[in-house]
Amino acid sequence: MQKLAKIWMNGCLVDWDDAKIHILSHVIHYGSSMFEGIRCYNTDKGPAILFLKEHVRRLYDSAKIYRTDIPFTQLELREAILETVRANRLTSCYIRPLVFRGEGALGVNPLKSQVDVAIAVWEWGNYLGDSAWENGVDVCVASWRRIAPNTIPSGAKAGGNYLNSQLIKMEALADGYAEGIALDMNGYVAEGSGENIFLVRDGVIYTPMTAQSILPGITRRAVIELAKEQGIEVKETLISRESLYIADEVFMTGTAAEITPVRSIDRYKIGTGERGDITKLLQSKYYDIIKHGNNSRGWLTFVDPAPVSEPVADYFAKEA
Ligand code: PMP
Repeated sequence: MQKLAKIWMNGCLVDWDDAKIHILSHVIHYGSSMFEGIRCYNTDKGPAILFLKEHVRRLYDSAKIYRTDIPFTQLELREAILETVRANRLTSCYIRPLVFRGEGALGVNPLKSQVDVAIAVWEWGNYLGDSAWENGVDVCVASWRRIAPNTIPSGAKAGGNYLNSQLIKMEALADGYAEGIALDMNGYVAEGSGENIFLVRDGVIYTPMTAQSILPGITRRAVIELAKEQGIEVKETLISRESLYIADEVFMTGTAAEITPVRSIDRYKIGTGERGDITKLLQSKYYDIIKHGNNSRGWLTFVDPAPVSEPVADYFAKEA
């Protein structure tokens, strides 16, 4: 990862190298964190953060589920995110707000440890590979199930959830696939290790319901809206494993993955093996937002880069 200038920690911008925590922080031992993954795009109309409000809201939802009071308002955190992007002089980046249980007491109970908040940003290209947008990816159904709803709630984006995601992802990579799709505890399709999944058959789009061990993805919700705008029927429903193999199109969505076509699953070719028409149409609508800066739906927050005279410029002068 390329080092940048600043990381926001508990209300202040600190130098990248100083953004450290103690080894006895609760989060390291018990996975007690909630986080978001957000993207800033360098659109034709200037740098803009996609779904800033929605991501910050989900962070607060995740924190609430874990009885964690974030010592900032949602508005303050949105401002802090904008400030962090500006301070690092980035026009396009990945943004990682993180809430975690820090120092206090070690033991399962997190409530005795302080709540820390950090925001880091870094540069990031295509998540599933450079050609993925056009050519699609080869994925598999994972042998690991998605976390069951009565164990760890998938509706909270918590650090601990990603141990399950790591098993899914590592297995997929070890077997030569770009990603793994996990089934839920009942054997129905849930989601990828870091993406939601959609299939298309006879012009209708299907995707698992939010109660089905998935993260309620913000890209997922947006894609459903874009599809409906185009007059395409979308059904949030139970999806069997075999319906993936006989789908006309399959695609995955996420902040990182954007809208990525799936060209094969378990070596079954999906449709023609080429990117499908509905996938392509939805991608073009999404591209219109992230590249052309179409903000007719209010999904973008423009960053307005900081003037060059701000003190952070000195940092770069020092580094160079
Ligand atoms: N599922 C999981 C498990 C994820 O980690 C992500 C990425 N945040 C998604 C789905 C997609 O969610 P979003 O569109 O909000 O990025």
